[in-house]
Amino acid sequence: MSTVILQPAGKGAAKEHYSNTIANPVQLSRMEKYLSPRQVAYLREIYGERGIPVWGTTPGDKNRNKKQWEKVQKGDIALFTGDNKIFSSAVVTYKIHNKKLAEALWGWKEEGITWEYIYFLDEVKKHDIPVMELNNLLGYSPNNVIRGFRVLDEKKSLKVLQHFDFSSDKYFPDVSEDEYKTIVEQYMTDESLDKERVGKSRREQAFLRRFLFGDKKSEYCGICGKEYPVEFLITAHIKKRAECSKEEKLDYKNIVMPMCTFGCDVLYEKGYISVVNGVISLLKDESELTSVLKDYLDKIIGRKCSYWNNRTRKYFEWHYNHHS
Ligand SMILES: [Zn+2]
Repeated sequence: MSTVILQPAGKGAAKEHYSNTIANPVQLSRMEKYLSPRQVAYLREIYGERGIPVWGTTPGDKNRNKKQWEKVQKGDIALFTGDNKIFSSAVVTYKIHNKKLAEALWGWKEEGITWEYIYFLDEVKKHDIPVMELNNLLGYSPNNVIRGFRVLDEKKSLKVLQHFDFSSDKYFPDVSEDEYKTIVEQYMTDESLDKERVGKSRREQAFLRRFLFGDKKSEYCGICGKEYPVEFLITAHIKKRAECSKEEKLDYKNIVMPMCTFGCDVLYEKGYISVVNGVISLLKDESELTSVLKDYLDKIIGRKCSYWNNRTRKYFEWHYNHHS
C-alpha cells in the first residue's frame, strides 16, 4: 500500500528548496545532463513538457535519512510540514540517488554533503491542516513537532490516508503477482479489520491497474471504445468481484477490463448493459431510460467488445445471467 512520508520544510534550507523545486517545478531540460537516457524517457513519459517537482534529502547522521528514503516507493504520499501545519501533500512518482543532480539543484549543505537521495513528485496540493490533527490521529503528544524526514509504517500510513484526502487516483505502488496472490488468499480466509481490508483493496487495485495500464497515460474504455487518461478508467471486474471465487480472482488476465467513469462502468455495474456474444447489448426496457441515458447508450449498443473472447466469455455470461 501507499505509505506516508513526513517531510518538514518550514524553515532554513528546506523552506528554500520547497520554493525553488516544488512550488516552482524544475524543467526536465535542466536535469537531463545528470540523468541516464532511460531516466529521462521515464520522466518525460510522466510529465511531458510540464515542470517536475523535485525533493531530496541528505544521507543524514549514520545514514538515517538514506534508510528512510530506501522505503519510499511510487504512489507514496509526501506531507510537507512547517509552522505546525501540513501545508501541502504530493505523490511520489519516481526516485533516484544522484549526487550531481542534487548539487546542481541545491548546492552543498556542507563539504561533501548534499541532498542526493532524490524523489520526484506530482499532484502537489495545498493544505492548511494543523499538525495537532495528525498528532491526535497517530497518538502522538498534541505538541509533537515533526522533525526530520520520516516514512510512517503501514498501519500509521493507513490511518492517515483514511482520515485525510491525500491519496492519488493516478499513481499506485508496484505490486508483484506474488503479493497480489497473497492478498487474494487473505481476503478469503482472514476475518481482519475493515481498515486492513481497505489497505489490501488498494494493493489489489494497484496490481490490476498495473496489469491493464502499465505506465500508459491513457487507454481505451472496453465498452465505449473511447480513449481516456487512465485516471478516468477503472479496472472493472467482468464478473462482479464479490461473487468471484479465489480462482476467478487469480485469473486476473481475464477477469478485469478497463471501463470509463463517464458512464460505462456504472451502466455495466448496474446491469443496464452487458456483453452478449461479444456485442454490447441493452438489458433494460427503453421505458426505463431517460433521454440522456438513451443518447449515451445509442453510441455504445451494438459495438463489439474487444475484451470478449473464449477465456472471458464465461464471465460475461455470468454478468448477463445475473442481470437479465
Ligand atoms: Zn466508456
